[in-house]
Amino acid sequence: MISETMYELGSRRSSIRELFEYGKRAAEAVGAENVYDFSLGNPSTPPPPAVTETMLTILKEQEPCAVHGYTSAQGAYSVRKRIADDLNARYDASLTADELYMTCGAAASLCIVLRALTAFPCCRFVTQAPYFPEYKVFVESMGGSLTVATADTDTFDLNLEALASCITPDTQGVILNSPNNPSGVIYSEDKLKALASLLTARAKDYGRPIYLISDEPYREITYGKTVPYLPHLYANTVICYSYSKSLSLPGERIGYIAVPNTVTDADRLYAAVCGAGRSFGYVCAPALMQQVAAVCSGMTSDLSSYRRNRDTLYTALTDMGYDCVVPDGAFYLFVKAPGGDAVAFSERAKKEQVLVVPGNDFGCPGYLRLSYCVDHAMILRSLPAFQRLIETV
Ligand code: PLP
Repeated sequence: MISETMYELGSRRSSIRELFEYGKRAAEAVGAENVYDFSLGNPSTPPPPAVTETMLTILKEQEPCAVHGYTSAQGAYSVRKRIADDLNARYDASLTADELYMTCGAAASLCIVLRALTAFPCCRFVTQAPYFPEYKVFVESMGGSLTVATADTDTFDLNLEALASCITPDTQGVILNSPNNPSGVIYSEDKLKALASLLTARAKDYGRPIYLISDEPYREITYGKTVPYLPHLYANTVICYSYSKSLSLPGERIGYIAVPNTVTDADRLYAAVCGAGRSFGYVCAPALMQQVAAVCSGMTSDLSSYRRNRDTLYTALTDMGYDCVVPDGAFYLFVKAPGGDAVAFSERAKKEQVLVVPGNDFGCPGYLRLSYCVDHAMILRSLPAFQRLIETV
């Protein structure tokens, strides 16, 4: 017998992947230059030169069996130490190597942490809409359930009223992602502080901790605003980080989990993280990439092309009459679907070879996600099609 749940997951692609595959077929049929693919969040600027230089130096100078061999299950100590030092310097944190666990990117970080925290039947996790659709898959695969707080569509900042009504005695954790995929919004410090007070009060009422799980693959991709370091605002924060976007390395699968010692039962949770990594077979993240991450932690790819794309697309679309908030980070625009039905708009857009993802799977029907980590010339070529689409609603 085959697991029905896993069969369902594997045979049904996400709406994002579905569009991406459609785009590849369309490119063969009508030519790649005539397809305007805004579907996938695949970085479009190369990694910083230090990434390639570091890889070459390691490969030339280190003994091959050492480079490619197993590291400690939680990652090489020297790597974790260097990353902890970088985070301490940037955020005035006080992390040690023993509070970090190296992973194959944010998806693995999240699965491990959720597994480590899914401690009782009906364990509930809460997230804020709009949210990364895989959260539902990850939480439910661990046997938990995901409750989604409705979006504040005026600002896409945290909706504290909605969050307060979602947090119940069986809430084990809250998953946040800022800068946010898909809205590009950076949650404001004021709202984060208010959430921290809410969680502290509820944890006291319920007599048990509520963990904040901060999913941060876009932390460094910002256009002027800073992203607060959440453990400074709420001691019970666990960080799930990835170098996929900051260093443009999504195919290399490297990231980390930070369990700061301020977290309730930090030592036990760190041990449970190691246990969850072990139970998934997610031990010893790619060894060469661990070393690259250690050297390049804190660097970013050239973000100026994302900023230019954001400015061009945001200005052009809002001039045409599209409605969307200014994204302060990541590389997505979250646009209100003209006519109100995002699925219908996305289908209509496909006929113009414009690929935009309906917000339904992000918990925000009526909105469209546009990934602007694309070639700038493609954005310019796509604009007449966007104009026709809004004129024909
Ligand atoms: N979390 C968010 C919000 C994302 O947007 C992504 C990828 O797009 C991930 C997690 C997964 O990242 P990774 O490729 O590092 O596993």
